[in-house]
Amino acid sequence: MRRRPLPLPSGPHPPPPTQRGAPLQLDGSRATVLQHGDAGRDGCLPARSRGLMPDVDFAPSAVADDYTERMRAFLDEHVLPAEASYDAFRAERRGTPAEWDLPPVVEELKEKARAQGLWNLFLPSISGLSNLEYASVAEVSGWSPVIAPEAINCQAPDTGNMETLHLFGTPEQKAEWLEPLLEGTIRSAFAMTEPDVASSDATNIQTLIRREGDEYVISGKKWWISGSADPRCRIFIVMGKTDPDGPAHRQQSMVLVPRDTPGLTITRHLPTFGYQDQHGHSELRFDDVRVPVANLLGEEGGGFAIAQARLGPGRIHHCMRLIGMAERAIDLMVRRAQARTAFGRPLADQGVVREQIAQSRIEVEQARLLVLKTAWLIDNHGAKGAATEIAAIKVVCPRIACAVIDRAIQVHGGAGMSDDTPLAYFYVWARALRLADGPDEVHLRTVARQELGRHT
Ligand SMILES: Cc1cc2nc3c(=O)[nH]c(=O)nc-3n(C[C@H](O)[C@H](O)[C@H](O)COP(=O)(O)OP(=O)(O)OC[C@H]3O[C@@H](n4cnc5c(N)ncnc54)[C@H](O)[C@@H]3O)c2cc1C
Repeated sequence: MRRRPLPLPSGPHPPPPTQRGAPLQLDGSRATVLQHGDAGRDGCLPARSRGLMPDVDFAPSAVADDYTERMRAFLDEHVLPAEASYDAFRAERRGTPAEWDLPPVVEELKEKARAQGLWNLFLPSISGLSNLEYASVAEVSGWSPVIAPEAINCQAPDTGNMETLHLFGTPEQKAEWLEPLLEGTIRSAFAMTEPDVASSDATNIQTLIRREGDEYVISGKKWWISGSADPRCRIFIVMGKTDPDGPAHRQQSMVLVPRDTPGLTITRHLPTFGYQDQHGHSELRFDDVRVPVANLLGEEGGGFAIAQARLGPGRIHHCMRLIGMAERAIDLMVRRAQARTAFGRPLADQGVVREQIAQSRIEVEQARLLVLKTAWLIDNHGAKGAATEIAAIKVVCPRIACAVIDRAIQVHGGAGMSDDTPLAYFYVWARALRLADGPDEVHLRTVARQELGRHT
């Protein structure tokens, strides 16, 4: 049985937010007015709303409880037992052109999950779950971060791409790309980062999208484009500049580029600390790639705004999965500490190891509470009202996950460095998330800017 989040401090619970029960918006917010008044001048909640947040209510709803329990049972009964077969399939193909093939066990899991109603839970307007309610499901999926999210069709980067298409796609774009993504029959990628410029500042990107008659012509280079290696990846959302001389945040647009478009070449697949993920992180070249103007997402010059819109809920998902990874690391660390004896006593009886376990538990609880608060804020005040917290959790969660997993590796001794446990891969993935979706420093900058702004 998995650990449940620690209960909140005791005391009378405030009444639930008035927004409960109102229709969900695409970003998970409810369709009623803000409880705390309007957002501050920086788009965030005013200072009086921060700190204790007296009306925050994390109590899981009956629906969230039900989904989380079912996800936990699905993980235990089907996903964790499938890990060995997944790994064996991939190990046999390592270094061959079949390296990117999907182990068949994943399709089997997808069928089972869908039959149990565990499907597309990330999208509030389809699942009816708020961000807070989905957060616990995402945490459970983080126990097996390579397999479980895809089994329930809640895997990155497709979730962000589906949200983007849902929010900004035309009916034709939705029919062609969103529907098969929601069905789990194709996969997708999001292409923003470029090798030649500091892409954590998205105004730097150089890829050009120039209009010629009824077509856009795309030229440029991208790298670290997750999902590109998967043979099922059929569509790229590409960010480039349609107006390089315009105002800094109106130069960019996004276009849909089908994978088989002439001029689009995948030049290599990048490893993360030596690991090649099945869906891959690739470098791409666009040599005068032509797509119809109907492939524009939203409006010309709207690329920056779209990039912002897709990131809020996506970060909650990443962060909750990281907490799930950290929980599994604690679980493995404790089991190992109880089973292994050194210098006449189980490791679990050694003070140094106890401190590592305690420190890990404390950090995970702190991080979870901050993520739940952020999810609640998005649900009740929209992604803009949670901007500071979204940046904060994107710093906190990969860092605590790295620290907890590192301790678990240490407690395992040499075994921790091998692939006999999932810890080594977990460490790599948690470390990668200190860069993917923007490096720590960019998010720290956001938090500092809000904090400094409150004191002027
Ligand atoms: C596993 C993985 C998957 C990824 N998937 C995708 C994907 O699917 N699509 C996509 O488009 N991109 C993806 N990325 C790319 C990722 O988003 C970028 O690597 C990240 O945004 C940083 O951009 P950069 O690599 O150009 O670093 P740079 O912009 O060159 O930054 C380098 C370093 O400079 C420092 N720095 C930057 N800004 C500041 C600042 N304001 N203050 C202080 N220091 C600063 C930071 O330490 C930063 O790490 C992925 C990356 C990884 C590792």
